[in-house]
Amino acid sequence: MSDTSPVQFTDLNLPEPILKALNDLGYETPSPIQAECIPLLQNGGDVLGMAQTGTGKTAAFALPLLSNIDTALTKPQILVLAPTRELAIQVAEAFQAYSRHMRGFHVLPIYGGQSYPIQLKALKRNPQVIVGTPGRVIDHINRGTLDLSGIKALVLDEADEMLRMGFIDDVESILSKTPEKRQMALFSATMPDEIRRITKRFMTDPTAVKIATKTSTVENIEQKCLIIGGLQAKLDGLTRILETEDYDGVIIFARTKTMTVELAEKLEARGYSAAALNGDLNQAMRERTVSRLKSGQLDIVIATDVAARGLDVPRIDLVINYDIPTDTESYVHRIGRTGRAGRKGTAILFAAPRERRLLKAIERATRQPLTMMELPSRDDVTKKRIASFRDDIVKMLAGDENLDFYKNLTAQLSEELEVSELDLASALLFMAQKEKPLVLPPEAPRRERSFREEDRGRNDRNDRGGDRGRDRGDRPERGERPDRGERGERRPAAEMEVFRIEVGRTDGVQVKNIVGAIANEANINSRNIGGIRLHDDYSTIELPKGMPSEQLQQLQQVYVCNKALRMSKLEGVAAEGRQERSSAPRDNDRPARDGHRGQRRDTTGGERRESTGGEERRPRRPRRD
Ligand code: ADP
Ligand code: MG
Repeated sequence: MSDTSPVQFTDLNLPEPILKALNDLGYETPSPIQAECIPLLQNGGDVLGMAQTGTGKTAAFALPLLSNIDTALTKPQILVLAPTRELAIQVAEAFQAYSRHMRGFHVLPIYGGQSYPIQLKALKRNPQVIVGTPGRVIDHINRGTLDLSGIKALVLDEADEMLRMGFIDDVESILSKTPEKRQMALFSATMPDEIRRITKRFMTDPTAVKIATKTSTVENIEQKCLIIGGLQAKLDGLTRILETEDYDGVIIFARTKTMTVELAEKLEARGYSAAALNGDLNQAMRERTVSRLKSGQLDIVIATDVAARGLDVPRIDLVINYDIPTDTESYVHRIGRTGRAGRKGTAILFAAPRERRLLKAIERATRQPLTMMELPSRDDVTKKRIASFRDDIVKMLAGDENLDFYKNLTAQLSEELEVSELDLASALLFMAQKEKPLVLPPEAPRRERSFREEDRGRNDRNDRGGDRGRDRGDRPERGERPDRGERGERRPAAEMEVFRIEVGRTDGVQVKNIVGAIANEANINSRNIGGIRLHDDYSTIELPKGMPSEQLQQLQQVYVCNKALRMSKLEGVAAEGRQERSSAPRDNDRPARDGHRGQRRDTTGGERRESTGGEERRPRRPRRD
């Protein structure tokens, strides 16, 4: 954090095990808020801390309180209240990290959504520190499962956020149930009246520690802005940026939960390891997403403001504001997800032309300029791909790998085939880049609209263009496809109709899941289920003509892969007959995943041709009878 602070951790009278843990963590010097708060809290005083996010508040209270703890006592001694589960877990993890060399120490996060039996069992281990969300703490107090009589210190972390989330009454009620003579620290980025009232009522002579708004966090962040409007343009812009920017971890902010899911699906479909993080996800899923991002199993998280509140993942070095935030405060908070702990970060803001006026406000709030950026061109993408290819070669040559065998083989091949080593290298290079061509093919011209079902699907969603024009730009000729040119030439066994269902490949669905669900739920013999085609975000299915409306209605409610089928008839699309239960008439409309993280493929050009294989992806030609 700030390197202007002359104080060292060793000046702070912290016990040896804690200093050791800080050393393990690689903390060099205390941040300003830590330097001020640690001595105050160590001496038993109350502290009112005001500082922006990312200034190191957790250690500012955790370190001094930990150094005062008595590990021999078996009642909770410290209670930290945090507004969200994520923050509670994060703070508990910090306590855990700082105390790793302290024997007999336990910290326990308690929060809504986790089962009571688990929490009760954990409470029996006599944790000295409890970090909880207000609601769940109250529940435990009311059930008599949390004994606050031994509490010596209490911390309200992100108090203004607790107020915003409507927890303030809960907080007051908890405070009034803690012993009179306890120490208290309250941290808040702002000081609304309600918070001030709490400090008056519950704190004793608090020392105010205020760290200037201009946080080091923002100084480390390069802020850029791209003027871009329209759904499709934004999606294209996003994929180009992901392809051309250097990053390790990315967080993308969207305004709605639906958009987080939609973007996650779209990026996944393009081969990125991406996931949504929003308030609709259950506790376990949110935790899993954050820890996958931390560990690098996941590179991109698309989040709403609420879900990303306080998120601290050091490897995030790029924040993309896909939707402009509603106010400057949330902008500052969003970009504060990068540039953590003095690292460098980049923040890119998408703003529609009419949103320009907000940019000035943002510059004022951050006291930093927003640099206007251009949409990376195809050329930029090509250059980037070549550069990273070159890097890979350099790394390979500098690495430990013994290449002697390959050197000999190259020499031998060149001689045997009577080609120069340059020719040989060129051929190998071409082969090596095949999966992800270094030079992007020219963008495909827009196709005319047709009655093809996928066009209809996309039109319905006001979402055509990029997916087709780009990712699918160089598909093989349409004539090869079973749904082309052969319509009406074959007579299906029974008269069939084509229906659209709202579950597709990105939901992980397979043909057999659909057949199974429909056969069971609507009591249709699976032999009467015709061709099924999986598309990225929907599928089509052929069913016998003239299905009773009750049966159709029943099918609306059927869930496959956690999604309602919401079946609807596709007018004007001819069925091809039940022999065609081929789900993927083409094999290249979606990049395969190869399990690598950070793969940046197929985001701008339509170059990827291979498929993941598997039953539902193999193209099948119709049989002609
Ligand atoms: P805040 O609560 O103010 O938003 P955190 O306590 O979450 O900030 O800290 C932000 C990040 O900075 C965390 O990753 C934390 O591990 C790191 N950090 C905190 N103090 C230091 C320090 N003195 N040196 C290096 N990193 C630190
Ligand atoms: Mg914090």
